[in-house]
Amino acid sequence: FLQLRDVVKAYGHYVALKGVSVSVEKGQAIALIGPSGSGKSTLLRCINTLETISSGTIMVGDEEIGANTTSSGRKKLSEKVLARQREEIGMVFQSFNLFPHMTALDNVTSGPRLVREQDAGKARKQGMELLARVGLADKAENFPRQLSGGQQQRVAIARALAMQPRIMLFDEPTSALDPETVQEVLNVIREVRDSGMTMLIATHEMDFARHASDRTIFMEAGQIVEQGASSKVLFDPETERCRQFLAGLT
Ligand code: ATP
Ligand code: MG
Repeated sequence: FLQLRDVVKAYGHYVALKGVSVSVEKGQAIALIGPSGSGKSTLLRCINTLETISSGTIMVGDEEIGANTTSSGRKKLSEKVLARQREEIGMVFQSFNLFPHMTALDNVTSGPRLVREQDAGKARKQGMELLARVGLADKAENFPRQLSGGQQQRVAIARALAMQPRIMLFDEPTSALDPETVQEVLNVIREVRDSGMTMLIATHEMDFARHASDRTIFMEAGQIVEQGASSKVLFDPETERCRQFLAGLT
């Protein structure tokens, strides 16, 4: 469903992804783990077309995405196509990234209203349903500054879901949260996963990865060192490097 082949991403001379190949089936939840700087965020940003890849291909279904460079002979897609592709891939960041001047409800409905030209009544109804789904029906009129970190992150998840994405990407969604609020966000992510969403989650929450992901990818220095069933990679890894990482000896 999501297929990356030999994806290379260079920032100038620095090669952040050195030929990454991943295949994700529809409905699978993938945990992305690895030390700081290993390329987890870069990989997610490439899938979301926030970054232009240097070579390789990324396919969602049978559509190639983000292919907007011509230097290497890759086809050039219009901004319109790229924008549509990005809408179909939801992303949740460590830092929530809500619009500070909008209420929780407006944060959730702004995408469907502006991009999908959904009428206000319908957007509001769908927005309230999504807020209820993340347990925040009573906070619809609160601004981000009037919400806790965990609540802000749940609004961010509802906002991403409002665009009815084909894939959800989470980049360390609980790293900026107080320990007490981590679980409420993980529970919402687990609920999204149980609804059948295809997702990739860069995370340092190994317990969550163990219990809520189907497969795990361990990256280091821009390469995949090990990948497989989470029950294998996170409990009995093949590589010494992954074993060390899990033991906290990074
Ligand atoms: P962390 O766990 O700290 O979030 P990460 O695995 O997400 O790390 P990335 O953010 O993907 O790592 O970074 C991979 C490498 O690419 C790092 O060495 C980083 O310095 C480099 N890098 C990331 N973004 C840029 C950029 N815009 N320009 C130059 N180098 C970058
Ligand atoms: Mg990162």
